Amino acid sequence: MNCLARPSFRPSAALGAIGGIKLWVLVLALPVAFPFLAQAATEVEPSAAKPLAPGQKIAGYKALRFERPYIVQRLTERTYWVAVETNNLIFHVGDRGVLVFDPMSGRRAEIAIRAIATVTDLPVTALVYSHSHLDHIGEAPVFAAAAEKNGVNLRIIASQATVDEIKRHGKPVPMPTEVVPIPVGEFTFEDLTVRIFTGGKRHSIDASISHLVQEKVVHAPDFFVPGSLPFENFDFSLDMKGFEDDLEQLIGLDWNFFNDGHGNIGSREDALFMREYIAELRAACLAALGEIPFENFIDPAKHRYVYSLEWVAKLAEVAKGKMDPKFTSLEEFDHLFENHVMFMVVNTSLHQSPDIVPQAEQSAEAGKTP
Ligand SMILES: [Zn+2]
Repeated sequence: MNCLARPSFRPSAALGAIGGIKLWVLVLALPVAFPFLAQAATEVEPSAAKPLAPGQKIAGYKALRFERPYIVQRLTERTYWVAVETNNLIFHVGDRGVLVFDPMSGRRAEIAIRAIATVTDLPVTALVYSHSHLDHIGEAPVFAAAAEKNGVNLRIIASQATVDEIKRHGKPVPMPTEVVPIPVGEFTFEDLTVRIFTGGKRHSIDASISHLVQEKVVHAPDFFVPGSLPFENFDFSLDMKGFEDDLEQLIGLDWNFFNDGHGNIGSREDALFMREYIAELRAACLAALGEIPFENFIDPAKHRYVYSLEWVAKLAEVAKGKMDPKFTSLEEFDHLFENHVMFMVVNTSLHQSPDIVPQAEQSAEAGKTP
């Protein structure tokens, strides 16, 4: 459309718009000049009474979780988040009892039960195991003992994959009393619907996403710490696609708050940040692969692992130069990036583009080196 032909174009309106732009420049510059203003909008003192607004996080969380026995934060009308040192759980208060997502470990369960009691006198009547890793469910016996003391017949809900893992390892926790199917199951707790998605290829073969449907909260431990990069191998995912499939599942659900079990409270922006990181990592790795041929690193005098890792180190160096500063400036970036590059390159070569590594290795002829 031709701007000059717009009947609504008026010089006075244009001047007003310019004035508006000046105002916006001022508004946008304020948080830069006074950083506490930016923090005030997104970070708040924890409160067990006042629900968070979507996108808000706990101010000073990294240190605060070690300074206090526990932190309780109200997320919604009936759902709360509890941090005890390095671990977090969420709980939902019904009319007759409390539903807890993951009983914690390392003598934190008893502290978590005390934290819950600061909000409600109702007993814990149901427990969800997000997955079978003992750092999240190791102290289920503490909740079971508390239920017995209160005369409560404790419900324990988990996916079939988690039940199988508990049996396979002989884990010292009470067996679930209710099993939801994989890849998608559902149960109700009073008026709340909870859907459990078990992708099985991210973090562990029973890693799940629990969606508290009406509360718009998700509990997906060991996915990614909000605002941070995922841990090594994308927190021990089987492959990149497994992580990405779960990420798209997460983004596709209707929620405002995300608990990864270890970090600050997550938001949709954190999930989109993760999607952007993966896209940029993939593009940077593919570009680096085009610039740094594996053949140049093959050295028959060296162990295959040695020259392979030297190649990955060089790929990471080149790929880092292609990444946005919002990623490279993260405290953990240099500790994790080489691992992430290897994870992406291995996945690309094994699952997407067979030409990248295997042909080069074939041309070098296996057998020359161990
Ligand atoms: Zn885990």
